[in-house]
Amino acid sequence: MPRVVRAFKTCLRHIDASDFYTWAAAVSLNEALVGRRRDRHTTWMIVVKVSVPRRTAVGLCSALVAVSGACFPASRPSEEPAGRAATAQGQIRALFERRADALAAGSVEEYLGSLSPAARSFEAPIARGAAKLPLAGVRMVVREADVAPDGQSVDGARIDFTYWFEGLAEDNLFHIFLINDLERRGSRWQVTSSAIDEARYDMHAGSPLPLWATGPFRTTRSEHFLALYRPGPGGIGSVVQLAERAYADLFPKLTFDPEPGYLLVAARNEDEYAELVGPRTAESSIAIATAESVRAAGRGMSGLGGERPETRHMVVDLEAATGGGSVSDHAHVEGVGVAQVIQHELGHLALLRVTSTFTPGWVKEGAAMYLAGERRIDEWSAGLATGAFEDLSFRTLSRAENVRGEFGYSYVNAATSYLIERFGAKTFFEFYRGFKDFEVIEVKPDKATRSERTQRLLNLVYGITERDLDRATRAYIKDAAG
Ligand SMILES: [Zn+2]
Repeated sequence: MPRVVRAFKTCLRHIDASDFYTWAAAVSLNEALVGRRRDRHTTWMIVVKVSVPRRTAVGLCSALVAVSGACFPASRPSEEPAGRAATAQGQIRALFERRADALAAGSVEEYLGSLSPAARSFEAPIARGAAKLPLAGVRMVVREADVAPDGQSVDGARIDFTYWFEGLAEDNLFHIFLINDLERRGSRWQVTSSAIDEARYDMHAGSPLPLWATGPFRTTRSEHFLALYRPGPGGIGSVVQLAERAYADLFPKLTFDPEPGYLLVAARNEDEYAELVGPRTAESSIAIATAESVRAAGRGMSGLGGERPETRHMVVDLEAATGGGSVSDHAHVEGVGVAQVIQHELGHLALLRVTSTFTPGWVKEGAAMYLAGERRIDEWSAGLATGAFEDLSFRTLSRAENVRGEFGYSYVNAATSYLIERFGAKTFFEFYRGFKDFEVIEVKPDKATRSERTQRLLNLVYGITERDLDRATRAYIKDAAG
C-alpha cells in the first residue's frame, strides 16, 4: 500500500506544479506498476493530453493509481521469478541495478567490480565523480532489446545512466548514455567495453560527458542552487548570490509553484563554456538555460511533439560574468547587465516544465524578458526611428522556434508587456501553457503547427488575432518610447 500512496502523492505534486495532469498520471501509473522509478518515457507514454480542471485531474489520478495498484503486484529485482532471473536479460538487468545502487551508496569499487580493465579505465572517472556529488539517486537501465535472452555475450547494449540531485526537483533527471559489450564468465557477467553512445548525442552541442566526470570539480550549495565548477578562479560565490537574488525577484511573478532549486554549472572561461554548451550557442553569451528533452536523448521520438524537457540546468561563463573576481558592472552583453542575463535564463529554466516544442520563440523570450523585468525602451526608440518594427509580424514570428533579427527581441518584449499589463500575468501564463497542453506526440512541431497553435491560442485566451497583436504592440511602443 505505501507504494500506491507514494504514487498518489507524486501525482498530486505534479498537478500542483502544472494545474493540468499531463504526464502525472503516466508517472503514477508507472510507479504503481513497477514499484520504482524506471525509464518512464519508454515505459509509458500517454499519447493524448487534455487540459482538465484540477478536480477532474485529481479524480482521474486516484482512479488510475487505485486500478493499477490493485491489478499489478509490485515487481522488485529481488522478487524476480526464478525462470526470468536465469535469462541473460534478467541477470544483466540485475547487474546494472546492483551497480547503480552501489554508486548511489558511494561505493566506487563495487560499481567498477564487474568491469574489465578497459571498461574500468573509461568508467572510473564517472564513478569517482558521481560518488562526490550530492545525488538523490542513480539508475542504470539496459535496453533489453539489445540483449538476446540466452546469449553468452552482448555487443553494443545501450545503457541509460540516469541520476538526480538532492534538493532539486525529482523530475529533473540527468543522463549519460553509454554503450557496453558484455561477456558471460561462468555464472557472472563482465562488462568488457564501455564508451559514450555517440548515436544518442548531438556531438556538436557540447561535451557529452558532464563537467564532474571529466576532471576535478567542487560543489557549493545555496538555498536554491547547487553549483558545480572546476577549482580555480574565484567569483562563484557572487554568481550564486546573483542567482539567489534572481530567484527571489522572479518567482513571485510566476502564477504556479517554483521548483525547489536548480543546478548551476560554472565554466571557468570562454573555452570551457563553449565546451559545455556547444561552440555555436556559446558565442556572445555568458549564461544559458539548457534543456535536454526526450528527443535530444534520442529515444526514437525524433522531431515529434510530446517531448518534455527533463534535464534542466544553467551554465554560466564565470570569467565573463565576474571579470575574474566579483560581478562586474561592465560585463554587459548586448546592453543587458549580468544580473539581468542570469534572471532571464533563470526565467527560461522556471518555464521549461511548461514549455513545449510547439511554443514559438517569441512566447518563450517574451516570458523570460518579463520574468527578468526587462523593458527595452532604448531599442524601442531606435526601432521607431528606423521604422524597423513595420517589417516584423507575429504571423512570421509565430512560426519560428527562436527569435532572430536586430529588433526581434524588443518587439516581442513590447508585445508581452502589452499583454501582461492589459490582461494580467495569470492569463499570459495560461496562454504560455496552452502550447504544452495542445501537445500531441503524433504531430510534428514544425513552422505550420506552431503558427496554427499560436493563432488558436491567441483567439482562445485573448480573443485577438496576430494582426491585432501587431497593431497593439506598435501602439504600445509608440506610447512608451515615441
Ligand atoms: Zn532567452
